[in-house]
Amino acid sequence: MDMRVRKRHLHIFILSALLTVFGVVLFVLIGILMSADIVYGQSKTGVEVSECSFCPEIEEFAKKEDEEIRAAEHAEKLAKATGVVYLTYDDGPGDYTNALLDVLKKYDVKATFFVTSRGADDVIRREYDEGHTVALHTWSHNYAYVYSSMANYFADLQQISDRVKNITGVESKLIRFPGGSSNTVSTRYDGRTRIMSKLTREVEARGYQYFDWNVDSDDAGRANSSDVVYANVINRLKPGPNVVLQHDIKPYSVEAVERIIQWCNDNNYVFEPLTSDSPTVHHGVNN
Ligand code: ZN
Repeated sequence: MDMRVRKRHLHIFILSALLTVFGVVLFVLIGILMSADIVYGQSKTGVEVSECSFCPEIEEFAKKEDEEIRAAEHAEKLAKATGVVYLTYDDGPGDYTNALLDVLKKYDVKATFFVTSRGADDVIRREYDEGHTVALHTWSHNYAYVYSSMANYFADLQQISDRVKNITGVESKLIRFPGGSSNTVSTRYDGRTRIMSKLTREVEARGYQYFDWNVDSDDAGRANSSDVVYANVINRLKPGPNVVLQHDIKPYSVEAVERIIQWCNDNNYVFEPLTSDSPTVHHGVNN
């Protein structure tokens, strides 16, 4: 081979060797710098190992993107759904509410809790933190007290409103009357003043929205097994909005929830929590 050609080959070889070495050094340097940054972030904040100067931004971005994707999927499902199911739970928190929250979490279902003075604050906080609607049922659930006068009703409502606000920081304006707006039990205590006719008007005048239901699981009545609660709910669901009444203080009712969710998922129903934009599904007032 020509001497000049061999020399050129040698030059090319040396140059590429140098470039390779330079590339490896640069790669190692970047690696060292990045890991130094991670260690620095960790020692400074004392938090997770993944902590680094740009990690919170990436995590925030990923979380937001995740939420957007889920919201879009939910909206698409909603548009194609046979019906919407608003699972609502009255009279809690109770001994079975945490188990219920576990099931709702497993299926990523959001529900509504009409709470009372019962149970631990932590359970109400969990309901709120996990994206459910915390709404007001009654403080005492004592028909004789709340339905004996307008003043009693509103004093009781204020008490449960304060409890929820202290726990969640939010003043709820969504309520459900003990016994529903159609109850006749109030006739025993109201001294023939037709208190439900007055209350249904007055709560709205005070900025509240009251919700009844159009699917009764009957778990406060004759349904006393999870099989009957399950059958009552799924047989009463219809196209359109379904506000389902259950009680999270009844173990057999809570036990039925997983099957109800599975049936709804298999039959193209979607779940929503109640909000101020939801259908209120009012009963006729009987007193
Ligand atoms: Zn109740």
